[in-house]
Amino acid sequence: MRGQENSLIRIRRNFVRKLDNGCWFWKGAIGSNGYGQVHYKKKHWHAHRLFWILIKGPIIPFQQIHHTCGCRLCVNPEYMTLLSVREHGIISNRKRYSK
Ligand SMILES: [Zn+2]
Repeated sequence: MRGQENSLIRIRRNFVRKLDNGCWFWKGAIGSNGYGQVHYKKKHWHAHRLFWILIKGPIIPFQQIHHTCGCRLCVNPEYMTLLSVREHGIISNRKRYSK
C-alpha cells in the first residue's frame, strides 16, 4: 500500500530521531501514560503501536507490545515483541522487583 508507506515516511521524518543504540526515539507528543501519541487516519494512536502495525502488521487481540530495549518512547519495531497480557505482566513485575 503506497499511501501507508508514504505516511510512515512522513511520520518518521517529523517525529523520530534515530539514536546510536538503534532506538527510534519518539519526539512527538507524549500522553499521560508516557507513550508517544500520534494522529493517523482520524484516530489517535500510541506511536509504537502504529509503527508496529505499519511495519510488521496487525496486532493480535489480547497481545501487548513489549519493548525489549526498555524505552517506552522507542518506536523501532525491531525492538518490540508481542506478548500476551499475562506474559507481559510477569515480565514487568520481574523487572520491578529486580531493581
Ligand atoms: Zn528502543
